[in-house]
Amino acid sequence: MLHRSSDVVAISILMLIAIATPCMALKPYPHPLAGICEELVPPRASQALADIPDPGRKLLALRIYLRTGSRLVQRWSWTDEEIKAFQASAEQQALLKEVAAVSAHFAQANPGFQIYVNAAVRSLDVQIRNWNSNESVGIAADEILSRWKDEFGPDVQAWVGLDPKKARNWLNGFEGAKRAAIAAPGLSFHGQARAIDFQVTQNGAMIAGTSSKDVEHDWRTPKWDVKLKESILAAGPSFRGPLTSPDEPWHYEYDPGNRTAVK
Ligand SMILES: [Zn+2]
Repeated sequence: MLHRSSDVVAISILMLIAIATPCMALKPYPHPLAGICEELVPPRASQALADIPDPGRKLLALRIYLRTGSRLVQRWSWTDEEIKAFQASAEQQALLKEVAAVSAHFAQANPGFQIYVNAAVRSLDVQIRNWNSNESVGIAADEILSRWKDEFGPDVQAWVGLDPKKARNWLNGFEGAKRAAIAAPGLSFHGQARAIDFQVTQNGAMIAGTSSKDVEHDWRTPKWDVKLKESILAAGPSFRGPLTSPDEPWHYEYDPGNRTAVK
């Protein structure tokens, strides 16, 4: 008989399986690190971490976010809307005027050579792309991942259910021998128009650019680091620098003191 209670139970179970199975099949299995990231950092940072597929690069960025702590939200790169607002502002005009003054001084002091600057604010997407492909990040990522595996197990499955507090303590205490040559996504000073890279060109060709590998050959030997600094001191009162760790003679922070656009 169809309405016996055991039949009803059996049919109900079959229906439940039929309903549940496609959902379970469609739902992607979350990476064990995803929950840890969500637990430990603000949403905008955990969203950026979700766009870093390599577990070593992810851990390296997560560690930097943890160390940045309460300053993270204030330092976080502008959204597209904030970049648009800056592009129409008096603050941007002031920045471009000072860059032009430095460039003019440099061209006059070094006949035949020019300054090239990309003054565009570096979006979060670009910073994430750089983080996912940069070689120095890859080397530091391999190191942190290998030590992480020593601590928490070599297999991704071993990290399921890992206590986020344990992960946080380990990441805070980790000191690597290798370091990334670029800022973690969201934390570049270029993301709030608070840094400018000054490069040197000759007849339109780049002769001293932003490659860390060429600092000695392109900057130190021809003394472009000294000559750029002279022009900055003479004509760029709001620029501080250059960055020394990592060694980037082209990178100057821009701090005009009374910026309203910077949050
Ligand atoms: Zn820079």
